Amino acid sequence: MKNRSRIISVLLCICMLLCICSCTNEAVPITEEPNSPGQSENVTETKAPKDTTDYSEHSFAVHYIDVGQGDAALVLCDDKTMLIDGGKPHASSIIYTYLQNLNIDYLDYIVASHADDDHIGGLSAPLAKMKVGNVLAPETEADTRSYESLKNKTAEQGLTITHPKPGESLDFGSSKIEFYGPITESESDRNNGSIVMKIIYGDTSFLFTGDAEREEEQEILSAGYDLSATVLKVGHHGSKNSTTYPFLREIMPKYAVISVGDNNYGHPTEDTLSRLRDADVKVYRTDMQGDIVATSDGKTVTVTTKKNENAQTNPTENEKSTSVQSAENAANQEICEYIGNANTKKFHYPDCGAVSQMKEKNKVYLNCTRDEAIKDGYNPCGRCNP
Ligand SMILES: [Zn+2]
Ligand SMILES: [Zn+2]
Repeated sequence: MKNRSRIISVLLCICMLLCICSCTNEAVPITEEPNSPGQSENVTETKAPKDTTDYSEHSFAVHYIDVGQGDAALVLCDDKTMLIDGGKPHASSIIYTYLQNLNIDYLDYIVASHADDDHIGGLSAPLAKMKVGNVLAPETEADTRSYESLKNKTAEQGLTITHPKPGESLDFGSSKIEFYGPITESESDRNNGSIVMKIIYGDTSFLFTGDAEREEEQEILSAGYDLSATVLKVGHHGSKNSTTYPFLREIMPKYAVISVGDNNYGHPTEDTLSRLRDADVKVYRTDMQGDIVATSDGKTVTVTTKKNENAQTNPTENEKSTSVQSAENAANQEICEYIGNANTKKFHYPDCGAVSQMKEKNKVYLNCTRDEAIKDGYNPCGRCNP
């Protein structure tokens, strides 16, 4: 009898300890979904010590949509929908058609990783034509045309943009989203102000890095977040300044997706591709394989591609043919924002068709803002609408 009461009191102690521990364990809801009055209860909702979800009853997929040079990913978890970036303005119809084909007419979340055109330009159609629950974007004073449009269309939906803070998290169906960056905002460097976030579904996880480069990667590393992930959306389309070794070593992904199209920046660069090879990561590329879909059953991730499933996405030095030289030629263009024509005084995005036809001697690499280019006497090209 004495033994039994001792056991009971020990059990009681454990219960009380568990209570105290779980009460200090915080999950921060960053947004309220419309029409869900019970949402505020989330404030006190505690993180379960062990994930006991039966994932066989749920579904999870990430669609890395081929939008050419740019980023766009659709995340589906149970009945929840999230669009992370939407490519350039011309990709707006690609995104909208993609959503229509999946019978999606409501987006719970739109995430604008940062204010650059190749990420948020294509968000205009979904924002204009569909009902959206929440819009997330980094806090920024950016005045790009695409960002102005994002702000206006968000307001037209009766919403205000939410700025997720590093350390915050969000329940998304039976998955969980954690935000790691941006830690500091930088007006002059939009890429390093990208939202960096991880979606965790059971034992699998998906890291999204926008166009984060070395500086933001280092800040996030210093903050000590658990960055390990099954699938990495490679930062800045495979720019040489992203996916640095220390960052990659923390993530240790099994798969990497590079969202990239025709470009004059040399993306994806051999520097980044070789780091991914060294880390033994299987690389998928939207420029070679079209739309890439990664599904998870909570334990394993399966990747399918629209075309060229077995394409040599990351050949070694020996396997490579001739693509290196063109990448090197493009490297000096990598830092420029626009390309001007000294002759016509028009300026273009580097990937504009007019640039490929332009005589090399007429090319002026403009590493400046749109307004500065106009101030310098250039007019925006009517084709690529920079
Ligand atoms: Zn960018
Ligand atoms: Zn980009």
